[in-house]
Amino acid sequence: MSESIPFRAEVSRLLDIVVHSLYSDKEVFLRELISNASDACDKLRYEALTQPELLTDDPDFKILIALDKKARTITVADNGIGMTRDELVDNLGTIARSGTAAFLDQVGTEAKPSLGQIGQFGVGFYAAFMVAQAVEVRARKAGSAESWVWESDGRGAFSVEETDKPTRGTEVILYLKQGEDEFLDIERLRHIIHKYADHIAISVMLEGEDTPANRAGALWLRPKNEITPDQYKEFYHHVGHAFDDSVLTIHWRAEGVIEYTGLLFIPSTKPFDLFDPKRQHGVKLYVKRVFITDHADGLVPPWLRFLRGVVDSEDLPLNVSREMLQNNPMLAKIRQGVTKRILSDLAKFAADTPDSYAKFWENFGAVLKEGLYESAEYRDELAKLLRCRSTSGDGLVSLTDYRGRMKEGQESIFYLCGESIEKLQRNPHLEGFKAKGVEVLLLIDQVDDFWPTTLGEFDGKPFKSVTRAGEDLGKIATSSDTKKEDPQPAAEGMGDLIALIKLTLGDSVKDVRTSDRLTSSPVCLTSDEGDLDIHLERFLAQHNQIRTASKRILEVNPKHPLLIQMAARAKESGAADHLKDVAWLLLDQARLLDGETLSDPIAFSDRLGALLVKAV
Ligand code: ADP
Ligand code: MG
Repeated sequence: MSESIPFRAEVSRLLDIVVHSLYSDKEVFLRELISNASDACDKLRYEALTQPELLTDDPDFKILIALDKKARTITVADNGIGMTRDELVDNLGTIARSGTAAFLDQVGTEAKPSLGQIGQFGVGFYAAFMVAQAVEVRARKAGSAESWVWESDGRGAFSVEETDKPTRGTEVILYLKQGEDEFLDIERLRHIIHKYADHIAISVMLEGEDTPANRAGALWLRPKNEITPDQYKEFYHHVGHAFDDSVLTIHWRAEGVIEYTGLLFIPSTKPFDLFDPKRQHGVKLYVKRVFITDHADGLVPPWLRFLRGVVDSEDLPLNVSREMLQNNPMLAKIRQGVTKRILSDLAKFAADTPDSYAKFWENFGAVLKEGLYESAEYRDELAKLLRCRSTSGDGLVSLTDYRGRMKEGQESIFYLCGESIEKLQRNPHLEGFKAKGVEVLLLIDQVDDFWPTTLGEFDGKPFKSVTRAGEDLGKIATSSDTKKEDPQPAAEGMGDLIALIKLTLGDSVKDVRTSDRLTSSPVCLTSDEGDLDIHLERFLAQHNQIRTASKRILEVNPKHPLLIQMAARAKESGAADHLKDVAWLLLDQARLLDGETLSDPIAFSDRLGALLVKAV
């Protein structure tokens, strides 16, 4: 009995996008179906390692493509793992990736997302609906006696029904739309297979022919000089389930104590769920050309989870179970080799094509930075790959660049963490540094709160947040192009004013001091050497890691007209009463400038109100 099931909402929306906005490259439907058939054969080959009976009398994997000009159908059949009824429903009727709906909402209905963006959801199968008005999928799971047929016109619902497929595997039958007759031409299909499936390790046969239409060998085992850029590109699309281009292809063979071949790619698009804790890397593990798993946990470190591709090991035992892999010492060695290779190729990439590297960094830099505190052994290499914004301009700077521009007498690499570059640029902490021409790194990724402390130093110079007091800007030579300031004597009464503010604010601050880092703002908040960085502390508080924020030092700008005037009155009798509200308002102002929320907005508003009344 046929059962009709609606597509999940996300599927309908994705289908709509695939069919209506990605029509420029219709022929990719065949690439996607062949890619799926090849994956299905890979999966069965793995299962058959322990259950050889699954292959029965049909041990040679192949993909068969048949045409029926009269019925106007194309059939792509494989003798791979097949699907059960439930798998048909789940795999072809839902989108597994969490966050799909949220992403689609964000993209909106107007804008046309790129193929690269849409491709990440595993929409490969739905590409069939670009050329077909109806699609039938007949599947029989290897080892099962049942078979099922899935059918849909791609508009809202599909049906499933039991059928009588005599052999294991999956058959996808496309009923072509009007106007798609070009795909009924066998030479056209041969051309598409050659273009998109030459790198597929399994034979793709056109019905009635004896020789495969593709080369059918593991691409990664071919010598590099025999592989064309297009073949690499198509292999990336297949192995990475990707629709974008890769920015870097890394293909090598490790020989010696451990032997393996790696063919890895760095995508050009940033996946929407890059920071989802459940997100896994995309490197498939093969052992002697047999696919083992997409999810070998220890194969690459989490901070390289943007990689796509294949690692094929000669040494791991073929009967290694996926569960046992995790603690396998051989796998740890492979991970080490892969990581080193990637880091050294990234260094070359950065040196040879800094502009492309900068784009890579925009996509994946925040992930790579996790390695700075997660993997001590690669810290040095990672520090050299690091790029940051800074007060020196719009571009990205390396720590080596920064180091080369340090001023005479500058002992530390200064940085400031915050939410956005725009906000940081206006942060009062930077005033003194800017005035002296001292460069400050501006850090806005969440991981930036952690790595400077873990890394500790670069090339002998410690990292120091500019929010920490005690930074002797005075030690740093003023650059010749900025005016030398004469050391001015502190305004009269400044000492009294500081004492008065301290008395007024009491326990709300750790200390009150004059500042040499401020040029135009009257006040800012800082912390001492030993204290947590302000931004980090706020992050920890938000995540309930610490309960109370530690007290800050209020720094006041002794050259600011407001402070000078206050100082002049500090000695007058009744000054405390008079200046009390101003002192509190200065503290609140410093908090606001620092991006904090006020603990007592009502008191703030009362004081401001009182002052405004006087002013008016
Ligand atoms: P992806 O290949 O990126 O997972 P697809 O949309 O191409 O996404 O396919 C969705 C899922 O349907 C696959 O992950 C697989 O589980 C299943 N599938 C598709 N084609 C086949 C096939 N020929 N044999 C077995 N399973 C298949
Ligand atoms: Mg696919």
